[in-house]
Parts: sequence; C-alpha cells; structure tokens
Amino acid sequence: MDARAALRRRVAAALAAAEPWMLARLRDLVEAESFSGHEQAAQAEMRLMLESLGFAVEEIPTDLAAIKSSPLYSPSVEALHGCHNLLGRLAGTPEGGRSLMISGHVDVVPTGPLDLWSRPPFETHVKDGWFYGRGAGDMKGGLVAALTGVKALLDAGYRPAAPLWFNTVAEEECTGNGALATVMHLQARGIRIDAMLDPEPFGESVMSGQVGTVWAQYHLTGRPAHAMEAQKGLNPIEAAMHVWRRLKEVEARWNPPHATHPLFGDHPHPLNFNLGRIHGGEWASSVPTTCRVDFRFGIYPGRDPAEAKREVEAAIRAAVAELPEPPRCTVGFEGFHAPGCVVDLEAPPLALLAQCHAEVNGGARPATFAATGTTDVRLFQLGAGIPSTCYGPRAQRIHALDECVELASMRRVALVYALFIADWCGVTAA
Ligand SMILES: [Zn+2]
Repeated sequence: MDARAALRRRVAAALAAAEPWMLARLRDLVEAESFSGHEQAAQAEMRLMLESLGFAVEEIPTDLAAIKSSPLYSPSVEALHGCHNLLGRLAGTPEGGRSLMISGHVDVVPTGPLDLWSRPPFETHVKDGWFYGRGAGDMKGGLVAALTGVKALLDAGYRPAAPLWFNTVAEEECTGNGALATVMHLQARGIRIDAMLDPEPFGESVMSGQVGTVWAQYHLTGRPAHAMEAQKGLNPIEAAMHVWRRLKEVEARWNPPHATHPLFGDHPHPLNFNLGRIHGGEWASSVPTTCRVDFRFGIYPGRDPAEAKREVEAAIRAAVAELPEPPRCTVGFEGFHAPGCVVDLEAPPLALLAQCHAEVNGGARPATFAATGTTDVRLFQLGAGIPSTCYGPRAQRIHALDECVELASMRRVALVYALFIADWCGVTAA
C-alpha cells in the first residue's frame, strides 16, 4: 500500500473513533447561544476545543477605530459587548511550505417565534441523522466538521508540515467586521496565508463566487392624528409601503432579464431586496408618527457598494417626493457594506479541494455554487488576495425554523478537510 492510501485508511479509522467527540463538541457549541454581538460563550467553547488539539490561541479584538479606514469595513450595527475573534495556530507546525487557514463564524441569527419551533432552538437533538438547533447548520456544524478533520489527522499520527491556522470570528451575520479585523491583524503581523477555506453549509459544493450585500434603512416621520380625522394626519407607514413598491421596481431592473452577471447566468433572480423589519405606529386608532424600514439588497460582483447605495437612496428620495405630502425622510446604511467577489476555481488550492472531494465521494466532482448571499470569503480574497472559498456540510432551514445539519455530511466534510490539509500543507509522521 502506498503512503497516501495508508494515510487515508488511518485517517478514516481515526475519524470513526472521533465521532463521539464530534457530536459532543457540536452539542456544546450549539448550546452556547451566540447571537451576533454576544458570542463569548461560543468562543469559550471554541477555545477549549482548539487548545485540546494543540492550537495556540490568541484573541483578536474587533477594534472599530482601527478597521474603519478599510474599504471593506461595514458600519457596525450591534454593540460588540467585548466579543473577540479567536485565532489559533497549531503549535509545532513549521514555517515555510503552503499554509492554510480554516475560518468561520460563531454568531447565529435570531430564532424568530419560539413557539413555531418543533423543539426549543437551543435544546439540541438528533433525529434521522440530522442534528437540530439554531446555528447547527449556519455554521457550527461546519466548524466542528473541519476541526474533527484536523483531529483525525493528528490522531492518525500525522502533523501538518506547514502552518495550519483555525480562526473563529464574531459577527459575520451583519457586517463581517470580525473577519476584517483578523485579515488586518494578519497583514500587520506579516503572516502569509496561502489558502483559506470557510466551512459554510453549502452542501459539499465549492463556492464559485458571491453577490455583494448591503443593509439599508429608511425612516419616515409623518403627522399623528386621531383616526376619526385621519385626513388631518400624514401616515408614514402608508408612505413606507409606497417607497417599498418603488424599491421593488429597482430590484426588477437589476435582475434578469434586464441585468445579468456571468456567474449567475442560470439564476432567475440573484439579487434580492428583502424587507426584513418594519417598525412604526402606536396603535390602531392613531395615525402613526414614524415608520422605520430595514432592508437588505444584493449587488453583482464588480459593483461598488457605495455607488449602489447612491442609486438606492435616490430611488427612496424620489419615491417620497412623489407623495402628495412627502413625510420627512432619513436614509441610513448600517450593516453590510459588502462587495461581491468571484472565486478562481482553478487556483491551486481550490483545484486540490475538488480532487479531495472527489476522492471521498466515489470520484464525483463537487458541484459549484454561486452564492446569492455574502460570506467572509470576500474579506480574505479581496482584502488580502488569498485564494478562498466555502466548503461545508449539508444543512436545512438556516436562518429559519428547525435548523439542522446532516451528520453523515459532516463526516464526509471532515475527511475532505483532513485529506486536503495532508495534501496542501504536507504531513510528517508525528
Ligand atoms: Zn453563515
């Protein structure tokens, strides 16, 4: 048996033995609630996990004053409550060779109404091979799968022959500023990363690129009045509905068939304008005073988010001006300011990833996936020129109810990561 086949056999055996570890760590991590801006408990779990495998871990603060100068900075939404990013390097891995970073986020999105979940979102459980809980899919399952791959490689008696980094960031879901802080830290320290993989839950496909994403708000102030003389008032919620209809016309102009992008040639509607939150009014018998709308829109790779913001703001102001009596209007852009990016799937690490996937999946090449949302890949690729993509397990209902991740998929992903590290970084027998 040649050395590569022996490695694969030993790693697969170590992976089978590591299965209880994988399940227990996933449970601990998902049960550590970590909404954006409140990630400390999950980062404490990550630190335990990383240190148990021999990573030297440091905290990277998200210092807004320090990262604001970057064109990739997104105006912060949440107070960060002392949250930090964790950057781990496997101790004893030598300088030189081809380094790898695995990076993902530990924050999770709001649960929505608890009574609509089949079981409480942080009461984890396994059913029919799927592990349930908020964040199980997006993206704690991917983090644990990748780390289980590292563990299996080490348990099988191999050590990476180049620097192996494992990074977990706070606050990916509204801005990506955690990953931006990490990237700027790496640059300030002169640390070279030759490839980055992000185990986001895209069903074992390799991400070929992603749209840009922008968060925006408009806030309308009308004139309150008693409902019995509503004609004396000025209703900002009705005005907000009019503005939203005009924004949906912008969305229609940006999408096929009016506008397309080669990466999304097959996609009928890649750029979504999503009305995510509306806040306004006092009660049923008063014309409301104010209305605030929070929404999100996508842009094609190559478009400057600042330029897209100007078009959207102009559309909001034009829609308000059309009204018989325009309410007072302010427009804001708190949250994502994220350009899109295209991934070069022929870059050496990504071509190798496809090979490792095929090796684990009976020779089948991985599907490629053009994401209509954003990920931290943009910060590594656009911010530091590191060949980067997403590769992670199958999940269902992320950002929705009864979120779950498939355990069999996590096992395959773990093996792909172990083989990829062995081939990309090289290994020495421990
Ligand atoms: Zn995610």
